Amino acid sequence: MPGARNRVITMVQSSSSATQARAEVGVIGGSGFYSFLDDVSEITVDTPYGPPSDSLFIGEVAGRRVAFLPRHGRKHHLPPHKINYRANLWALRSVGVRQVLGPCAVGGLRAEYGPGTLLVPDQLVDRTKSRAQSYFDGETRADGQVPNVVHVTFADPYCPVGREAAVATARSGGWEAVDGGTLVVVEGPRFSTRAESLWHAAQGWSVVGMTGHPEAVLARELGLCYTSLTLVTDLDAGADTGEGVSHEEVLEVFAANVGRMRDVLFDLIGALPDSDARDCLCVDPLGGQDPGIMLP
Ligand SMILES: [Zn+2]
Repeated sequence: MPGARNRVITMVQSSSSATQARAEVGVIGGSGFYSFLDDVSEITVDTPYGPPSDSLFIGEVAGRRVAFLPRHGRKHHLPPHKINYRANLWALRSVGVRQVLGPCAVGGLRAEYGPGTLLVPDQLVDRTKSRAQSYFDGETRADGQVPNVVHVTFADPYCPVGREAAVATARSGGWEAVDGGTLVVVEGPRFSTRAESLWHAAQGWSVVGMTGHPEAVLARELGLCYTSLTLVTDLDAGADTGEGVSHEEVLEVFAANVGRMRDVLFDLIGALPDSDARDCLCVDPLGGQDPGIMLP
């Protein structure tokens, strides 16, 4: 992985040279993941859904072009329920991204998933309430185009190839990742009550977060591979005997693990298949249905 400590950020607008503004892999995560790269181009992208959370920061990792997008904005000013998920995924696809890695902080719903656990989920439960979760909703967009109403298969919400590579990469680096589990995504921004948390655990769900959805389904609608990597920062209220989750505690554990997570992400980027050679269920989500709009 590139180890240079001299960060050079080149300010580039969307009129920049084609190569600098293109990427193949997308990582939705904060500056802790790209600030160590040698040379990063900042690209401003607008979308028919409004602006994404921030600029795209594009650099090279393991010989591949990678676009990093700070999910909450670089100043962390966007709470989970105010993130423009549609704009974020659209912006990534519009610079060429076909495979997306979505690291996020979660609470553990079982005592054995304590802080520092890396879990690569294979299932998802959506308990969000107010988020636009489809591009194909039949509603006229700001640019006047009207998408058709279509339905994507979502039985397996994550890319099987990305998942397998993520688990293998983490393990070969010495981090015994949990292979599979269910991520329940809640609306936030508050943490769960003890009753909610106990209920989530009683369903057999594994970890709880606030940002993994609708990221996953929007990626699917756009034909992007999406792999979620969840880092447990705390035991959720029902699994914890203490005072409940605090934001401070979450930030502390995340900061302690960000370097480790970056190492896994960078190795994983090198292990992903060529985008042109993808042969997974993510590639053709519409199965012949006409979306009515052009994808970027
Ligand atoms: Zn895939």
